[in-house]
Amino acid sequence: MQNNSVNFKRQVTVKLADVRLQNALSRLQSRFVGGRAAVISEIDDFQETRVAAAAIRDRALNDLEHWLLQFEQQATARGAVIHWAENGDDANRIVAEIAALHGVRTAAKSKSMVSEESGLNDALEKAGVQVMETDLGEYILQLAHEAPSHIVAPVVHKNKEEIADLFAEKHQKPRKTDIAELCREARETLRPIFLNADMGISGGNFLIAETGSVLIVTNEGNGRLVTTLPRVHVAITGIEKVVPTLEDVTTLLRLLPRSATGQSITNYVSLLTGTKDSSAHDGPEHFHIILLDNGRSSILGSDMQKMLRCIRCGACMNHCPVYQNIGGHAYGWVYPGPMGSILTPLLGGLEAAPDLPNASTLCGACGAVCPVKIPLPDLLRNLREKQMQRGMKTQREVFMLKAWTWLALHPNIYKLATKIGVKIMSIMGGKDRLLHSLPGASGWTNGRDFPAPTGQTFRELYQQGK
Ligand code: SF4
Repeated sequence: MQNNSVNFKRQVTVKLADVRLQNALSRLQSRFVGGRAAVISEIDDFQETRVAAAAIRDRALNDLEHWLLQFEQQATARGAVIHWAENGDDANRIVAEIAALHGVRTAAKSKSMVSEESGLNDALEKAGVQVMETDLGEYILQLAHEAPSHIVAPVVHKNKEEIADLFAEKHQKPRKTDIAELCREARETLRPIFLNADMGISGGNFLIAETGSVLIVTNEGNGRLVTTLPRVHVAITGIEKVVPTLEDVTTLLRLLPRSATGQSITNYVSLLTGTKDSSAHDGPEHFHIILLDNGRSSILGSDMQKMLRCIRCGACMNHCPVYQNIGGHAYGWVYPGPMGSILTPLLGGLEAAPDLPNASTLCGACGAVCPVKIPLPDLLRNLREKQMQRGMKTQREVFMLKAWTWLALHPNIYKLATKIGVKIMSIMGGKDRLLHSLPGASGWTNGRDFPAPTGQTFRELYQQGK
């Protein structure tokens, strides 16, 4: 997928004016945020499990080469073929070669964000392979020629009416608005695709070094159909997804669905190990696993390594006030929200996504909900620092930051300056206690008023216990 993050600010203006989008995004609050809050209270050691999960991910990342090689050895021993892809083009070329090798004309695909990274569908279409998305959300997006806007709920930006219009147009059937009927219509369209596809393509939530298995979690049966019915199965995932043991995965599975969709467990947890043996009724005859680097190894060992702990639950974006208002497309690439604001610059370069590290209020909600305890606000601040060091800030920002630093290092002058400042702002606030414009902060006051302070500084109020 082409990285369009450089246009973030322009996209934000468009998205903020889109009332329909904001109505659609409000569903995240009730379904995912509310659902998560309810379901994490089911387990009394949720916080301890987060600590354990972070340790599991760190153990894997600190010795990634070892665990990946063990995964390769175990998977190969069970009949799978491992392919190492340095970048997205490599991954696409490898899948196209596998398709050519096995005479594949049609492929059924379940959700894979890594394949979105590489733009796999377009590459396969060019190679003469017809690809059909089978996850309901991804199928809708394929019909609409759109990219996902959320890593767990890819079509969250669309409402039921839009989907009804789309199905009526593309399926050439009477328009339906009942959700169950819309699902049935999609199922009827997709069922022959599962049955006839030459190749199934899936992602992989985890790779298990101990057994050479790929684990996927899904709520629709499409993941199982795609990975067991076609004679060839290709799983494509990032190198950071490996974990040492099956036991490790059970810890992570206590957190992933709870954090993602507010479920204790997803409808399906599929452990895919090796090729079909002679006694099995189903399963692929050929199992290829593509392990994509695409910049991940350059994060390893750096001060940003903790970002690679990510298990793609989406909780950080569900709780992010920025994402909640602009949705995923504004971020311009595969990964939106706080995790995308870090991962996109890390994988694609800070210069290609200069606004993303600043697309956060640093309220801390993302870090507080992350199941693997990634310090997202710290990493965002770290990227901002790198921008400063590389001279990517405007002269005005540099001046303001330097002035702030100087003030912060001179507490008495700081105290005096803030005292005078709040007094002036209090007078400027007038009777309605609002500032309609503020020198140097027009970005705020162009869109909304700034509440006038009471005339006392924060320190004074704090000392008074207010
Ligand atoms: S950064 Fe944390 S909260 Fe966000 S998607 Fe990754 S694991 Fe989930």
